[in-house]
Amino acid sequence: MTTLPPCPKCNSEYSYQDGAQLVCPECGHEWVPGEADAGDEAKVIKDAVGNVLADGDTVTVIKDLKVKGSSLVVKVGTKVRNIRLVDGDHDIDCKIDGIGQMGLKSEFVKKA
Ligand SMILES: [Zn+2]
Repeated sequence: MTTLPPCPKCNSEYSYQDGAQLVCPECGHEWVPGEADAGDEAKVIKDAVGNVLADGDTVTVIKDLKVKGSSLVVKVGTKVRNIRLVDGDHDIDCKIDGIGQMGLKSEFVKKA
């Protein structure tokens, strides 16, 4: 078991866990532990020009992309709605009109 950190507001040692957050019974402060050093927890995925992408974003394809295993091509300028960020070589999961579910690389899209 790890000991809980003291309340960052009043330094009380009686903080307790409530779901994902910690609660201080003395001053009522609520916080999420480890927020400051969440560095490797959330991987930041950026588009071709450095905008940070998020689930649900709409992006535009910036170069013609061949769809693996088919003769289809995702044309430059294609708008892709409601992307989902995933782990892996193709870090964007999405559905493209006329093509279907596919993976894109974030380096080939731009946030719309
Ligand atoms: Zn407190």
